[in-house]
Amino acid sequence: MKFVKNYKCTLCGREYSKEEKIYTCPECGEKGILDVEYDYEALKSVITPAYFEDNKDFSMWRYKYIMSVEDESLDETLKVGWTPLYRSKLLADKLGLRELYIKDEGLNPTASLKDRASAVAVIKAKEARIDTIACSSTGNAASSLAGNAARLGLSTVIFVPERAPQGKLAQLLIYGAKVISVKGDYRETFELSKKAIEHWGWYNRNAAINPHLVEGKKTVAMEIAEQLKWQVPDWVVVSVGDGCTIGGVYKGFHDLCEIGLIERVPKILGVQAEGCCPFYTAYKENEPLRPTKENTIADSISVGVPRNPVKAMNAVSRSDGTWITVSDDAILEAMKLLGSTEGIFGEPAGVAGLAGLVKAIDENIISCDESVSIIVTGNGLKDVKNALAAVKAPITCEPDINKLKKHLGDLQ
Ligand SMILES: *Cc1c(COP(=O)(O)O)cnc(C)c1O
Ligand SMILES: [Zn+2]
Repeated sequence: MKFVKNYKCTLCGREYSKEEKIYTCPECGEKGILDVEYDYEALKSVITPAYFEDNKDFSMWRYKYIMSVEDESLDETLKVGWTPLYRSKLLADKLGLRELYIKDEGLNPTASLKDRASAVAVIKAKEARIDTIACSSTGNAASSLAGNAARLGLSTVIFVPERAPQGKLAQLLIYGAKVISVKGDYRETFELSKKAIEHWGWYNRNAAINPHLVEGKKTVAMEIAEQLKWQVPDWVVVSVGDGCTIGGVYKGFHDLCEIGLIERVPKILGVQAEGCCPFYTAYKENEPLRPTKENTIADSISVGVPRNPVKAMNAVSRSDGTWITVSDDAILEAMKLLGSTEGIFGEPAGVAGLAGLVKAIDENIISCDESVSIIVTGNGLKDVKNALAAVKAPITCEPDINKLKKHLGDLQ
C-alpha cells in the first residue's frame, strides 16, 4: 500500500484516504465504485524497465508496488499470473492479421483470469484478519476464490446461479467451499449474496464493489505490456460481463502510462454476447445501461445487470475503443478455430474475444495492418458440454484395423 495515494469515486470524484475501511463511496452509495490512485511520481523512480529486468518474481506480484496490497503474505498464495503471451502464426495468417498475440489466462491456477482478483481478495481478507470470504459469481470468480482461499486457510461461502457449468461447480466443491446454488439468475444470486454478506459480516469479494480486485485484474494488461517490451499493441480485445475485467485492463495500461513505462493505452474492444449485451446496447443508444435478459452459452459474461458500468464504459471511451456483440454460434466457431490453430482451449466467454476480433476485422473496425492482443479469459475444460456442441462426434470404431481402414477411407 506504500504507493497508494487515495481512493477516488468514479461517479462524483470525491477522494478518500487509503486508511478508510470503505468499499464504495459513502456519498454515492453502492454505485459509487472507487478507483485506487497511486503516487505516480514516486513510482517513476522505483518502477523502471531495469526494475523488471532484475525481478525474479514471475507471478502477478511482480507488480505489487503498483497494487493496493501489503507485502506480507504474498509468497503464500497460489501462483497467479505471468501467463504466456503467444505470438500467433497460423491464426494470424488465417485472419489476415499482421500481428496477433494471445494471452492465455486459462493457465492460471484455477484456470481463469479471475485468479488475479481472487489472489488479491484473499490477501485483503488476511490483512483485515477476516477468516471467511463470500462472493456471488457466474462461476469463475467463485471457483477461483474457493481455490485461492483454500491455500491460505480461509473459508468461503459461494453463491452461484443454478446454471453454473459442472466443471466450475466441481472445482468449488473440491476446494471445500460452502456452495449455495441459487434458484434464479445471476442478478438474484448477487442480491442474495449481498444480503447475506451484510448479515454475517464476511469479507466481500464481489468484484465491482471491492476496488482492490480490479487492481488485481489490471496485472493482465501490465503483463501484456511487459511481455511486448513496453510496446503495446494497437488493440486489446476482451469479453465483458460485469465490466471489472475490462475496467482492470484499462487501469493497468493507464497506470503504466502514468509511470511512463508505455506511451499510450491500446484501443480496447469490449465483446459481449448477442443474447446478453447491456453495455453494447447502452453504447449504441447512448443511454444508461438497462437490465437485460441473460441468454447465451457464454455463462461467464451472461450478466444482465453489470456491477461495474462506469469503469467498463470509461475503459472503452477513454481508450478510443468500441463495443461489439457476437452470436453463440460465432463463439463456438471461435472455440474450434482457436483450438485447432493455436492449441488453446477456451471456454465460451474465454473465446468470445476472438469471435469479436473476427467480426471486427469483417466490419473494418480493426484493420489487418494493426497489431492486436486477445485475452483468452478462461479454460475450456470448465465447460465441456458447450465445447462438445461445437464439434463433430469422434469416429467410433471396433478394435479392428480393417474396420478402421474403412472409416479412414483406405479400403473399398
Ligand atoms: C468473469 C469473466 C469474464 C468477464 O469479466 P467481467 O469482469 O465480469 O466483465 C470473461 N471471461 C471469463 C472466462 C470470466 O470468468
Ligand atoms: Zn461518490
